[in-house]
Amino acid sequence: MKIGISSSVFLDSNANLKDTLDFLEKKVNFVELVCDGNINIMEQKNIDISYNYDLNYTIHCPLTDISLSSYREKVRKFSISYVKDIIKVANKVDAKLIVLHPGHNIFKYDYDKSLNSLIKSLNDLNMLQNEYGIKITIENMPSYDMFMFRSPIEEIISNLGDLGITFDVGHSFLNNNIEEFLDKNIVDKISHIHIHDNNSEYDEHLCIGDGKIDFKKYQNKLSGINCITMIELQNKNIEHIDKCISNLKKLYDL
Ligand SMILES: [Zn+2]
Repeated sequence: MKIGISSSVFLDSNANLKDTLDFLEKKVNFVELVCDGNINIMEQKNIDISYNYDLNYTIHCPLTDISLSSYREKVRKFSISYVKDIIKVANKVDAKLIVLHPGHNIFKYDYDKSLNSLIKSLNDLNMLQNEYGIKITIENMPSYDMFMFRSPIEEIISNLGDLGITFDVGHSFLNNNIEEFLDKNIVDKISHIHIHDNNSEYDEHLCIGDGKIDFKKYQNKLSGINCITMIELQNKNIEHIDKCISNLKKLYDL
């Protein structure tokens, strides 16, 4: 079992990418890079910094501006072309996997159109995955109405093709569907895990053990998934990072 920490723990802090990686390389071998803020890996200076570390990387897509579910075809096409740019950076920093958000939709009337667009995007992403030989994953989102892919609905699962799921345990807990994602028909599609805790109301990104998720209950299934488990904490919870690593190691019996 491979344990990593997302660099997002320093997103919007005063730390630059060098500070971030100096800190994280003392803790873990796997780090998720992000495409936003002061540690944006899409900037050449940060690509150069990443080469100085003996770390294995994954990359998380931007949190703003792109939407794979946009029914405005120009926006959807732009989003796919931006994913291509991320893949090129992933190749440069030797990242084996990228994490994409599924996009969003606000008005009920537009939901079907957005879902169709997402399905089209899944198809395009399968082609990119084949062309560039990098694993592309789609992340399940927290319980805010605007997000697509909050639960493993058939329309999305059956159109994943060879794409993987980034299973975000905290998000899934907010939607009360951890068992559904860990069901035998879906668990095999999980290629990456984001782990953090919350109190079932909002997406707090707490240290595991500090919220209400009964991780013990899912211990066997989670530890049986052969992938990287990335700890995702908010900057304000950084003081708990060592406790979070040791709680996760205990959970996985490491
Ligand atoms: Zn995410």
